[in-house]
Amino acid sequence: MQPQSNYPLRKLNTFGMDVSARYFASAGSIGEIQELLLDSRFRGLDQVILGGGSNVLLSRDINGLVLKNDIRGIFKIREDERYAWVQAGAGEPWHPFVRHTIGLGLAGLENLSLIPGNTGAAPMQNIGAYGVELKDVFEELEALDRTDGSLVRFGVRDCEFGYRDSIFKGKFRDRFIIVTVTVRLSKIPEFHIEYGAITRELEAMGVSGLTIDGISQAVMRIRSSKLPDPALIGNAGSFFKNPECPASLVEALKDQYPEMPVYPAAEGKMKMAAGWLIEKAGWKGYRKGDAGVHPLQALVLVNYGHAKGEEILELAGRIQASVEEMFKISLEREVNVY
Ligand code: FAD
Ligand code: NAP
Repeated sequence: MQPQSNYPLRKLNTFGMDVSARYFASAGSIGEIQELLLDSRFRGLDQVILGGGSNVLLSRDINGLVLKNDIRGIFKIREDERYAWVQAGAGEPWHPFVRHTIGLGLAGLENLSLIPGNTGAAPMQNIGAYGVELKDVFEELEALDRTDGSLVRFGVRDCEFGYRDSIFKGKFRDRFIIVTVTVRLSKIPEFHIEYGAITRELEAMGVSGLTIDGISQAVMRIRSSKLPDPALIGNAGSFFKNPECPASLVEALKDQYPEMPVYPAAEGKMKMAAGWLIEKAGWKGYRKGDAGVHPLQALVLVNYGHAKGEEILELAGRIQASVEEMFKISLEREVNVY
């Protein structure tokens, strides 16, 4: 494979950061990736794996190899009376994959409709929306170990999935390149409509009787009406994770802010809505130069045109400091910064 030099990345990241890669290659097979991993030209240099570029902030030129994983293919690999196991190549765009499985009459991914990006990145942060996470349907993934090019299988326990988290963002950060993802989907749907917006949207659509396609359509309509389209305004979705805080802290804050939304979380903790905290701290709609906080979604930082990575990071730091000061809560970045 012959990588290209000084490659512009602006169109390959939804934040629209105008940076370049010293080397860039798009790989369509495991063999091509292995070849690149063994190439001595890139040894000792940075290596960044890119899917759809919708969860990254590229804050500088990459002095090394940017490898776009374009392995394609969707296969139903087995089925029984109740389930079907479907495998997708890491380079399959996520939303068309979701729609494909719905077309096969298989349930499990409908709440995750319209999430940008590619399938290979979905396990990275255990993507989630509207009460469903990838881990709920995940069977296994295959990944190449960057240290020796070997192919390794990870089952659900190996991935250590958490809230917008996995082992690939922790202990194994930058170690593995995911090449396939297999999900176990159900022939008998279990509907997840506990997020109020879904039921409201289904009612507005005049839908009587739940179907997986109906839920997918409802989610698509809600998302299209609420979320900033990266084709129109640069962003990478939620910049911060929703914090999970000790119940004692949340109760004390509830006395002060009775209207504050809180949701149950694991082990005596409560989940707070980071967007609400940021809005309450006065940042919603803020803009300095081309870096800003979306006027309708305070959790989404935006690039109005030519913002630089450091301007977005500076803004993120100021938001974190003011939320910390006001609520004693540390916001953790969700977006991957390079
Ligand atoms: P990229 O941005 O290309 O990469 C993300 C990270 O994964 C990087 O660290 C990259 O190096 C690594 N990576 C990518 N592919 C591979 C691979 N094959 N092997 C190893 N590492 C890899 N996320 C949610 O969870 N829920 C949502 O509802 C949601 N909504 C969004 C809405 C908008 C408008 C936007 C812009 C983003 C949203 N996101 C959401 C975030 C994002 O779309 C997801 O995290 C998505 O899975 C990222 O996929 P990607 O291919 O674009 O990853
Ligand atoms: P929303 O419906 O306005 O709700 C705000 C926050 O409250 C969400 O982040 C959600 O947490 C939480 N929430 C709402 N109802 C809940 C319930 N019944 N139980 C538990 N938690 C609840 O959120 P939104 O911004 O429009 O996003 C809708 C969904 O898409 C959310 O699931 C969100 O995570 C997802 N999304 C993610 C990104 C991203 O980049 N990660 C971007 C856009 C949207 P959760 O986030 O934990 O679900």
